[in-house]
Amino acid sequence: MDSMLSQGVGSESCERSSNAQVSTSDAHKVDGKNPSEVIHWHNRGVAARALHLSRGVEKPSGRVTYIVVLEGLCRFNIEELNTRGPYCTAKISPLEMTKSEMEQVEQDPDFVTLSRQFKAIAMELISILEQKQKTGGRIKVLLETLPFHKLADIFVASFEISFEEQLCMLDSVDPKVRLSKATELVDRHLQSIRVAEKITQKVEGQLSKSQKEYLLRQQMRAIKEELGDNDDDEDDLASLERKMQNAGMPSNIWKHAQRELRRLKKMQPQQPGYNSSRVYLDLLADLPWQKASEEQEMDLKAAKDHLDCDHYGLVKIKQRIFEYLAVRKLKPDARGPVLCFVGPPGVGKTSLASSIAAALGRKFIRISLGGVKDEADIRGHRRTYIGSMPGRLIDGLKRVGVCNPVMLLDEIDKTGSDVRGDPASALLEVLDPEQNKSFNDHYLNVPFDLSKVIFVATANRMQPIPPPLLDRMEVIELPGYTAEEKLRIAMQHLIPRVLDQHGLSSAFLQIPEDMVKLVIQRYTREAGVRNLERNLAALARAAAVRVAEREQAVSVSKDVHKITSPLLDNRLAEGAEMEMEVIPIGVNNHEISNAFRIASPLVVDEAMLEKILGPPRFDDREAADRVATPGVSVGLVWTAFGGEVQFVEATSVVGNGELHLTGQLGDVIKESAQIALTWVRARVADLKLAAAEETDLLQGKDIHIHFPAGAVPKDGPSAGVTLVTALVSLFSQKNVRADTAMTGEMTLRGLVLPVGGVKDKVLAAHCYGIKRVILPERNLKDLVEVPAAVLSSLEILVAKRMEDVLEHAFDGGCPWRQHQHSKL
Ligand code: ADP
Repeated sequence: MDSMLSQGVGSESCERSSNAQVSTSDAHKVDGKNPSEVIHWHNRGVAARALHLSRGVEKPSGRVTYIVVLEGLCRFNIEELNTRGPYCTAKISPLEMTKSEMEQVEQDPDFVTLSRQFKAIAMELISILEQKQKTGGRIKVLLETLPFHKLADIFVASFEISFEEQLCMLDSVDPKVRLSKATELVDRHLQSIRVAEKITQKVEGQLSKSQKEYLLRQQMRAIKEELGDNDDDEDDLASLERKMQNAGMPSNIWKHAQRELRRLKKMQPQQPGYNSSRVYLDLLADLPWQKASEEQEMDLKAAKDHLDCDHYGLVKIKQRIFEYLAVRKLKPDARGPVLCFVGPPGVGKTSLASSIAAALGRKFIRISLGGVKDEADIRGHRRTYIGSMPGRLIDGLKRVGVCNPVMLLDEIDKTGSDVRGDPASALLEVLDPEQNKSFNDHYLNVPFDLSKVIFVATANRMQPIPPPLLDRMEVIELPGYTAEEKLRIAMQHLIPRVLDQHGLSSAFLQIPEDMVKLVIQRYTREAGVRNLERNLAALARAAAVRVAEREQAVSVSKDVHKITSPLLDNRLAEGAEMEMEVIPIGVNNHEISNAFRIASPLVVDEAMLEKILGPPRFDDREAADRVATPGVSVGLVWTAFGGEVQFVEATSVVGNGELHLTGQLGDVIKESAQIALTWVRARVADLKLAAAEETDLLQGKDIHIHFPAGAVPKDGPSAGVTLVTALVSLFSQKNVRADTAMTGEMTLRGLVLPVGGVKDKVLAAHCYGIKRVILPERNLKDLVEVPAAVLSSLEILVAKRMEDVLEHAFDGGCPWRQHQHSKL
């Protein structure tokens, strides 16, 4: 039985599978290098068809590898062996069973059992392979389509089994023998897979997740080192530690920081929490625990000069600030009151606070509190929150880098409270000298001493500030400016600053006083000077365009963009919000610049004003025009932007006695309208508004009262007298005097009660060109706050009762006055 067959070509390769790839490179027995060597041929083999031959790689020795793909056809028996040249030939007889023979075997119950066994175990193997490699699908199909005796061959061919076993399989011509052998081999293979799996599981269990990560990280570090881009974490942490050591933390906080640093050192940079811990330690290291601006001996005279030089007017306010500074000089650690500047926008609140900082030689930081509703904005979020941050105060201190800055709490009246807490209560702690020694920011989680910070607050109005907070502050009210004051401020401060900001000087642009006056009258109607400054800046820009065009390549001034004002420097340094600017549509800079190509320096005139700023926005005739019909009166109201003139319009239409109110009115103002109407109806005869006392004014009529501008919400009791005046004017068909404005609350019985904001209202009336102001008698005391220049330009009329108001409001007085005494 021992016959010879090439190991490579014969049995092994053909049996591998029906499509087997066989490497013939080292088949020295075939290529005839050793023809003398005796080969023992096996007496069985597999007939195969060559499907594909390809040339593989060339080995360094020069030998070439070929790959032959063979398809096994059937087993055969060798009958007779011959040689032809270097090759062997053989006479063979196929060992394939015929169809009928096969059918017979399939009937055999032994074969059926064996097939079932084989199928079960083969399925098991497939499912395991499927889990591992997800390639079981194709084999499964084979299992369903091919006869079992063929499947046995295919399965076994794919295992790594010994040559002897392979030959043994080849010899299993009987399908039953073949199946039982295959079942045994498949089972063995299955067992070995299971054992291997158990071992890997065991090993994997031992290698915990963190170890795996550690291994991978080590690899990554090695790769990075190899690549030369090793961002050295260790160096980083060392520098952080050095920074922390130099931060001058109190000992208990230093301990806390060290603990956190130790934790950080144990972490891997990619670990969650590493970054937040790192940022936290950075904050601890950056905070000015002890670092302070050196306080030089304060020169009070210089400080006063500085205040005077930066601000025009404001005599009383500057005096109060001066006192504050004097106390600081005598007792530097004095827990002085927290100053709170209250006034409309643009009156110099921020600029005064910054002057205080400059006078004290301290850094200045502005914390904007407008719109802050969340307590966490003041106190920070706990570090357990994702994206937690310190509060604005701690953040501000980090930015300013010293522990004793002047901190401006801007717009303290604009904080609100909602479900997220009450920022005002957090501010209470901040402003309380007893408590702010150990201010607790939730993010920081260690106390920070705020007692060295000098707080200054600003607000537009006092009323929204919670009383406990107001109690901790000393309020300094800044009224709006008069037109004269605005002119002085513009000439002395704003114009030089604006020119400087635009890289210009008076050699390029001159804005005469008259023109500034026009800008004030026609283009701004505000308590402060912010819009005025903006309009002046628009003029400067237009001039800058001309100069730049003329000089073209020649640089005009090296510091064109440099802003030299210390206040602006400060504002820019702390990243203040940008202020919006309205540029009139249709005004084209190019057009403007062309228009000025005349002479130098450029002197602003009226035509140029219109060209650059657009048509005038306000004019003095407005009141006269609007009061030209009966039923309109002029009131004075008070808003966050200061005082304002408010018209009231009343008209009657056919209807059934109803009162309609429009203009976004609040409840209080609606009630005032009801009171006004009732009061007028009750005095029909006295006021001679109808022929007989019984006549109802509203018979067959509806009254409609409107407060322009319709889009602005309005409320408050001070429109009472204005409403009555409008109604009386409507019913009597007499015009109200256009030069007279009024304010005052009225009771149902006609008493005129005092109202708030008189100073601002009077200033607004003055701005508007009003000549006479009717005020409640008890408000006379408030007039001391109004600048004398304004008072002298106005006629102040006092009213105790509503009749006094009517007396003053109509031309020629109140003709019905003599009738009313007996009635009331
Ligand atoms: P507020 O903080 O009250 O809204 P700012 O302090 O920002 O107003 O003032 C607006 C601008 O007006 C600043 O450029 C400021 O210098 C200027 N200003 C306000 N009042 C005066 C004044 N009395 N003298 C000089 N400049 C002033």
